[in-house]
Amino acid sequence: MKSVEQHVLDLLALVTAPEATESDLFRAHGTVLAESVVSEVSLPGFDNSSMDGYAVHAADLASASPTTPVRLPVVADIPAGDPTPNAIRPGQCARIMTGAPMPMGADAVVPVEWTDGGNVEVRIEAPATPGGFVRRRGEDVEEGATVLRAGSLIDAGAMGVLAAVGRRTVPVRPRPRVVVLSTGEELVEPGRALGPGQIYESNSYMIAAAAKEVGCEVHRHGFVGDDPAGVREALEGLLLRADVVVTTGGVSMGAYDVVKEVLSEQGTVEFTSVAMQPGKPQGFGTIGPDRTPILTLPGNPVSAFVSFQLFVRPVLLRLRGLAPSPLPSVRARLSAAVTSPKGRRSYLRAVVESAGPGEEVEHTVAPAVRQGSHQLSALADANGLLVVPEQLTELPVGAVAEVLLLPGG
Ligand code: AMP
Ligand code: MG
Repeated sequence: MKSVEQHVLDLLALVTAPEATESDLFRAHGTVLAESVVSEVSLPGFDNSSMDGYAVHAADLASASPTTPVRLPVVADIPAGDPTPNAIRPGQCARIMTGAPMPMGADAVVPVEWTDGGNVEVRIEAPATPGGFVRRRGEDVEEGATVLRAGSLIDAGAMGVLAAVGRRTVPVRPRPRVVVLSTGEELVEPGRALGPGQIYESNSYMIAAAAKEVGCEVHRHGFVGDDPAGVREALEGLLLRADVVVTTGGVSMGAYDVVKEVLSEQGTVEFTSVAMQPGKPQGFGTIGPDRTPILTLPGNPVSAFVSFQLFVRPVLLRLRGLAPSPLPSVRARLSAAVTSPKGRRSYLRAVVESAGPGEEVEHTVAPAVRQGSHQLSALADANGLLVVPEQLTELPVGAVAEVLLLPGG
């Protein structure tokens, strides 16, 4: 059996980030920058006031105090956006608003709170420091400086910087389009009536939601039955809209394991056993003329979910242009004992809790009671996957183990 790590490496060898495209700035939210962005402007673009107040020569106010206030004539009124070039001479001042350009000759701003707020003449009761309350041209971003590196995620903060330096479009990696297809003759769309032997289809909903959580564009194709012609047709039809295909079901050793049957014919998809539980049967490869990557996950819902987090997630991250890092993890103390099959790494649904001040934070982990790979109920509450290494068959209460943190947990 193959190790989890080896399987991840084999999958990653299959995919590269897609070509960059130029995107409208706002549409680029949540995508990844394909090239570093160099600012063509300085921020601020001109010296301006950081307060509502008066632009002054600091030297004029050296003696100002509540008992010896200084009076200055107000020779200009400068709102933000004022296009006229203003200037003051020594012994004069200008009323100025936050963000308004500093007049020539002024070297400081006195906040209005330290004055009587006069319009014609102002009484100032405190001295000013040269440069005080002035935002200097280029003090935030120098013209020619790199504001965001290639590979940065365009989140709200990045969006603000890009707009502030005047970018209308940015080169990004488009979000990968993921198509999710489930298989199984027993499946019924939620909301319909169940017949004998039938179950509601949940994998395509769950896996599509998980792919969205990785920032992909997702098409939930739904499900098809266990007939090879139907599966072949569905796969061909969905290739047009897919950068990557994820299927669930039909890859074990059963008589109707149709995904395995159909894709084995083509010879471009490899089926393998990974030393883990749940999720042992895995398949990956490419299909169609564009060699679209395909990952075939097992059908048991929990197996499909765990397989997604371990294998599909890094593939999608790489397709987004991000580092294909595994889920973050913590070390946590078990509040109940667990068992695990020898030679396979277990991923057990669990609830992690953190307690303790600052650096001393301690994690405890409570494994879910129902761990069957068909038992979905504990998944909704779980915020972590407790890892039991291959060589161990049990972990006692109080043992410390690694817990992968689930997204949104
Ligand atoms: P399979 O891998 O196709 O043999 O499926 C294994 C188990 O998972 C069976 O009990 C299936 O009924 C169940 N299963 C497969 N696909 C789905 C699905 N899309 N939604 C819910 N359960 C499924
Ligand atoms: Mg099946």
